[in-house]
Amino acid sequence: MITKTGRLLHQVLHGEINHADYMAAIQQGDSAEQAEQQYAEAHKTFENQQSLVNNLSDDYDFIVVGAGSGGSVTAARLSENPDWRVLLLEAGSADTHQDVFTPHRWPNLFYGDLDWGYNTINQQHANNRVVHCPRGKMTGGSGSMNATVWVWGHPMDYDSWAYHGNQGWDYQNVRQIFKSMENYSGEPDMYRGVNGPMPCGPNDDPNPLAEAFVKGAIEQGIPYVHSYNGPDLNGVSYFELNRKDGERFNVSRAYLVPAMARPNLTVLKKADTRKLTFTGTRCTGVEVVVDGKLRNFKAKQETIVCCGAINTPKLLMLSGIGSAPELAALNIPVVVNLPGVGKHLQDHILLAGINYECKGELPELKGNAAEATLWWKSNPALHSPDIQPVVIEFPFATPELAAAVPENSYAIAPSLVRPASSGSISLSSNDPSVAPNIDMNYLGCDADINALIASLDLCQDIGNSSAFAEYRKQEVLPGPLKTKAEKIDFIRMSTTTYFHPTSSCRMGIDAMAVVDPTLKVYGVEGLRIADASAMPEITSGNTNAPSMLMGEQVVRFIKAEHKAG
Ligand SMILES: Cc1cc2nc3c(=O)[nH]c(=O)nc-3n(C[C@H](O)[C@H](O)[C@H](O)COP(=O)(O)OP(=O)(O)OC[C@H]3O[C@@H](n4cnc5c(N)ncnc54)[C@H](O)[C@@H]3O)c2cc1C
Repeated sequence: MITKTGRLLHQVLHGEINHADYMAAIQQGDSAEQAEQQYAEAHKTFENQQSLVNNLSDDYDFIVVGAGSGGSVTAARLSENPDWRVLLLEAGSADTHQDVFTPHRWPNLFYGDLDWGYNTINQQHANNRVVHCPRGKMTGGSGSMNATVWVWGHPMDYDSWAYHGNQGWDYQNVRQIFKSMENYSGEPDMYRGVNGPMPCGPNDDPNPLAEAFVKGAIEQGIPYVHSYNGPDLNGVSYFELNRKDGERFNVSRAYLVPAMARPNLTVLKKADTRKLTFTGTRCTGVEVVVDGKLRNFKAKQETIVCCGAINTPKLLMLSGIGSAPELAALNIPVVVNLPGVGKHLQDHILLAGINYECKGELPELKGNAAEATLWWKSNPALHSPDIQPVVIEFPFATPELAAAVPENSYAIAPSLVRPASSGSISLSSNDPSVAPNIDMNYLGCDADINALIASLDLCQDIGNSSAFAEYRKQEVLPGPLKTKAEKIDFIRMSTTTYFHPTSSCRMGIDAMAVVDPTLKVYGVEGLRIADASAMPEITSGNTNAPSMLMGEQVVRFIKAEHKAG
């Protein structure tokens, strides 16, 4: 038996520790023979990658930009075809940090080297506040700093994508793909997959605060849903997590690591892609800064951009794909006038939050620090859930409100997952090293404020329910809110991100769409997008699995076209 070696092996295959350090770190009682075997396999992968990186070619069949949730799946699946040589470019470094592997430490990664460290511009409907927008800068991308929660989304999300002309994206189709991605550890369930690369499953040791949240919601008349990754997620649930032996098991471990052993996949880290290159309107490859030097790589077949909802539109615009007048204003030569690039940015809103001082110490964090959630309708007349509050097992308040919250506090965070408002990503400079303007336009529509009021009321009822009596010393934020105006004030001050930006290069068939239903960028040959930016509309749940779906789908489309000749 070998315990908790995930991180150690990850360090071996990224060349960070040697044999002696690995063997010394193996826990007492582990099988030395098995440890040797695992080391040998990981080291072979390292040597393979080292040789590929030391012998870079000028051209590859496919270039994938960004090794996050969408990009890791794309590169891994493309390289299943031994005839295709694939280059995966990642601006960040390896996802080997202890805080990556310890699921509840995701907030420790904020503003560090593994976070792009973005902030929004002043949010005019949220008291002109600036909101941090964390994005993973490492292999596995934001999937390496997320809260390890595994959610497909609501069936209606996908049926609505298909209804708007995106054939092949309906729920009946995508649910089979989600199923094929999973290695589900729960009770047998016809909806769930057990042969896929991504471990997911119920949390068998939830934090007592998560248990109180579930009980408190049931007290309010909300039904318990055992498996929300099925036809119905309307109710309260424990989150399913992507873990193995208590360690994060992200897209990079599930998809990328096995593929890194192949001779036809090169993973180049610290490779900051500055521009796409073109001959006319055909994308020919990329311009990249590696080790401080500018390099060009050519894609003989296609380039697939997977830089996420912030950096994908940024890269397209820097490369001359975007609104022609906006590009011209920054002296960027226009390749294709696509006015939708960077528009329709969406995000889920989380309110940070309703905080309660705990009686005594907080329960120990063992899971992901956010282990239960619920989907519900802010208005019973709605067709499907639009709010998804979550329990947070540590103090959770915006910087402007944090002073009121003692260290031994937990929070219930009201949220909105079907926002009516949308924002944009734009450039303020043609210099790739300048961060883009991120305008989430939070609370831009009154409908969002009204839904959040209902979410806030429900969360205060749950937080003040008898289920929490054992833990609740007092509500420290916001306290009683008597009028609608007081509630709105609190909403504006506590609005923050649920960490789920999407749809800034959205798929569709209308004039503002950026990619077609096979994820090809309109007006350009040899270029596709496979990440959260391409979602036509944000899904009603956490966005990691749907971002990985983009990678699964793009490779299906590419393979189908190549088969058809
Ligand atoms: C703190 C946090 C918590 C979250 N919690 C959850 C959760 O529990 N469950 C869930 O479902 N979702 C969660 N999410 C959201 C989810 O992880 C993301 O929606 C998903 O990872 C997005 O995938 P993506 O492929 O679009 O982008 P990313 O995964 O962000 O990948 C983009 C990649 O491209 C790289 N890149 C960017 N620009 C360049 C460039 N110019 N050159 C080369 N490489 C580049 C980046 O470094 C990154 O590796 C969370 C996100 C965060 C930040």
